[in-house]
Amino acid sequence: MTSSTRPAKTVLISGASIAGPALALWLHRYGFAPTVVEKAPALRTGGYKVDLRGGAIEICARMGILDEVRAHSTDMAGGSYVDSRGRTIGELPAEIFGGREEGDDEIMRGDLARILYERTRDDVEYLFGDSIASLIEDADEDGGGGGVTVTFESGTVRRFDLVVGADGLHSHTRRLVFGEERRFRQHLGAYISIFSAPNRLGLTRWETYHARPHKLVSVYATAGEEAGTAKNCFVFASPAELPYDHRDPATQKRLLAEAFAGDDWEIPALLSDAAGAEDFYFDSIALIRMDRWSRGRVVLLGDAAHCASPASGQGTGLALTGAYVLAGELAAAGGDHERAFAAYERVMRPGVELNQRFAASFAKEMTVSSRRKIALRMFMVRTLPKTPWKNLIAKKIRDDIQKAANAVPLKEYGAVPAAASRAAKGF
Ligand SMILES: Cc1cc2nc3c(=O)[nH]c(=O)nc-3n(C[C@H](O)[C@H](O)[C@H](O)COP(=O)(O)OP(=O)(O)OC[C@H]3O[C@@H](n4cnc5c(N)ncnc54)[C@H](O)[C@@H]3O)c2cc1C
Repeated sequence: MTSSTRPAKTVLISGASIAGPALALWLHRYGFAPTVVEKAPALRTGGYKVDLRGGAIEICARMGILDEVRAHSTDMAGGSYVDSRGRTIGELPAEIFGGREEGDDEIMRGDLARILYERTRDDVEYLFGDSIASLIEDADEDGGGGGVTVTFESGTVRRFDLVVGADGLHSHTRRLVFGEERRFRQHLGAYISIFSAPNRLGLTRWETYHARPHKLVSVYATAGEEAGTAKNCFVFASPAELPYDHRDPATQKRLLAEAFAGDDWEIPALLSDAAGAEDFYFDSIALIRMDRWSRGRVVLLGDAAHCASPASGQGTGLALTGAYVLAGELAAAGGDHERAFAAYERVMRPGVELNQRFAASFAKEMTVSSRRKIALRMFMVRTLPKTPWKNLIAKKIRDDIQKAANAVPLKEYGAVPAAASRAAKGF
């Protein structure tokens, strides 16, 4: 431990989604005292279905939540592409393109956030409806080796040993400590929107896709979806960044409507559902790239540090993995944050960079630029399951995904017996 540091005890975490509560769980287990501040007045439950693979599943097992995660599996049976008249033009069997495969779990983001919150709320202080207004790090205010004085929007002033920004792609902590978001954001040329809506297509454990040049619309209902409801999801290409405030859903709904204006199939009705959606989500498909994730006693975690975008399919997995590694390195370093933050970056960065490369190339494939290319893609979707090399292609897709999902090595930190974790996973 360096002379200017003492073991950290109190940790303020900004953001109660995936990364924040997961970090709080581990820190509490290692004897730290975490406090989580969340800007929203209550836990935010919206969002897409998210994949958990490889290392993320192992971490869920070590957290003791894997059974509960699996009890909330989306349990999708598959999906199909339809044309403008609703006729099926290609089917996607779950074992090739998604759903529960060996080494793959899928859960709604909101369910995972709720599981993590419920597991931690008795041991961890949660402050909803508040946010960090300013933070000042001092070298040694109380003779104990320094800390961070935090003023909250509510006016409360408190001192913490460490502060963690787990507040997402548009991280407020990042802006306060490292500067404006645009310096770190790389737009990948598309926007995504998702929200709950009436189940207009009558789907059960099924996703229906409709592709148009530069756009993709999908509707799905998972196993746990409330009766009569579904999720409407829209992706559209936009090489230029759109001018809007990420806290302004009215403008976001207008931009979404403009992007799909005049389109047929079920699109007008699906779009009209956005008006009443309480969990409306709209964001750019973007990466966050930073040279370093910590400054002094402040460190970034999850999307705040290294958003890999929905195109990676690994954003939630990386958030869970980062929380595991950051807490583990802090415990291993006896609270010496300088050593721990350096080790956290060393362990995480190669895996993050691999996943971000993956995302940048996959983002280009999310939409297709012309009707001819859509027809070609549909031809491949239709013929692939009948080809003799379908297993080879499926294996190649799975191998690439598993490589990305296991890109961060998982050390055993503290007393997390591997045997207990194996037993929890059932192998
Ligand atoms: C409501 C919601 C819906 C989402 N839907 C999708 C989706 O459909 N597809 C997808 O790929 N990803 C989605 N995401 C992002 C996805 O959750 C992340 O990519 C991933 O899980 C990493 O999580 P994270 O905890 O690092 O960040 P996030 O999940 O983005 O969580 C950040 C948290 O910080 C909170 N926060 C923001 N500003 C402040 C502040 N100033 N003070 C305190 N707290 C603050 C936010 O309210 C949020 O709870 C969604 C996130 C949210 C919050």
